[in-house]
Amino acid sequence: MKKLLLSLVFAANFSAIAADNKEELPKQTLFTNVHVWDGTSEGITKKINVLVEGNLIKKVRADKSDARKDATIINGDGKVLMPGLIDTHTHIAVPEQLDVLTNKVDTIYWGISAAQVTQDWLMRGYTTVRDAGGPAVAVMKAVKDGKLIGPRVYPSGQVISQTSGHGDHRDYNTPHPNLPGNTPQKMQKPEGLEMICDGVAEVLRCSREVLRTGATQLKVMVGGGASSSFGPLYTLQYLPEEIEAAVRAARDYGTYVMVHAYHDESIFRAMNAGVRSIEHGTLMSEKGMKAIMEKDAWISPYFTMLSLPWETIEAYVGPQNAPKAKQIYDGAKNQLRILKESGYDKIAFGADVVGPLSVQQTANNEFVVRAKYWKPVEVLKQATFNNARMLKEETGLRNPYQAGDLGVIKAGAYADMILVDGNPLEKIELLVDPTNTLKVIMKDGMVYKNTL
Ligand SMILES: [Zn+2]
Repeated sequence: MKKLLLSLVFAANFSAIAADNKEELPKQTLFTNVHVWDGTSEGITKKINVLVEGNLIKKVRADKSDARKDATIINGDGKVLMPGLIDTHTHIAVPEQLDVLTNKVDTIYWGISAAQVTQDWLMRGYTTVRDAGGPAVAVMKAVKDGKLIGPRVYPSGQVISQTSGHGDHRDYNTPHPNLPGNTPQKMQKPEGLEMICDGVAEVLRCSREVLRTGATQLKVMVGGGASSSFGPLYTLQYLPEEIEAAVRAARDYGTYVMVHAYHDESIFRAMNAGVRSIEHGTLMSEKGMKAIMEKDAWISPYFTMLSLPWETIEAYVGPQNAPKAKQIYDGAKNQLRILKESGYDKIAFGADVVGPLSVQQTANNEFVVRAKYWKPVEVLKQATFNNARMLKEETGLRNPYQAGDLGVIKAGAYADMILVDGNPLEKIELLVDPTNTLKVIMKDGMVYKNTL
């Protein structure tokens, strides 16, 4: 009797599951009458339909009959459908100036600000970001769990820095967090921005700790930067064996290391240690570029600052950091020339904007600055197909998004797309005004904006 009862229960459950399956066919959306730029082509394919099923693109050049009757129809009316934008150097979880986060708000306020910034990134057309430092692992999780609207995130978590390095943002009198008896300061806590570690053993521990908490790659500081007070720009940070330790820890976890580096010497050291992505490289010469190309590595530069007059940058960074920032500002122009002349294709697209929402919103200016040097289609490729290629090839087993390709419109790719009112291949400035020009934003098959 008991057995019979059990099998009845099972039978009932199975029929319930079967009934559910019938009702829950994956949702379909059909974009009709759209001009498509697919992320790789030189031009646009005119007036076709694109079918989305679930979170993937099912068919490009679809017939209306390919879609089920219950499919949602979005009539694109001749607007341009392109892959969602990707930025490879964000700080979505550093949503205020560091001094504000350290001294003027608590962790809850910090988190709420990060949520606001994250949502705004998606609404500016970015469906994926690689985050270059800050508590973005939590953001990735919140987005994945549906608690927060935002792009896909490849978080680096806390940056790894040597004492006095670009990730050591202590005040002059703040004691070292690793010395016995001292408690870590807010910035050095797991929900903060950075880890300070010296020597191979500590770098290994920090690397594994960051990976343990969910980072998809490691961010290591190997030279001076603008926002840190005790590491002049010319400094070399971390010994070769310390960088190698981080690289090996990352490799063992199926992933890679990206480094903050401005000048040739830090680039040489990083390339020799097996680093896969140079962040910035702003003060590089042709020699630094050659070192990157020889290792077939990536360079992720940033030029957004060049869209603003120097005086605006000066006011933002403050008098202490202004001399450094000026060097970077001037270096960026030289770097643009080197990158363009190199003809290298592993140039990523990232804006490296840090701080309040209004600053983060300047990230879209990156398109316009780059388009002074490259053709719009080349810039758009950097921000879609190219960036996606980097994320796929370098993140390896650690890649959280493996069900489809990113950065392209093709069958089987993730349905991450934006519908632009106008043709960005002819007028890239359209992407600087996303509120008005982006009519539809879809990520993972879900529509987050539709103002058609
Ligand atoms: Zn950065």
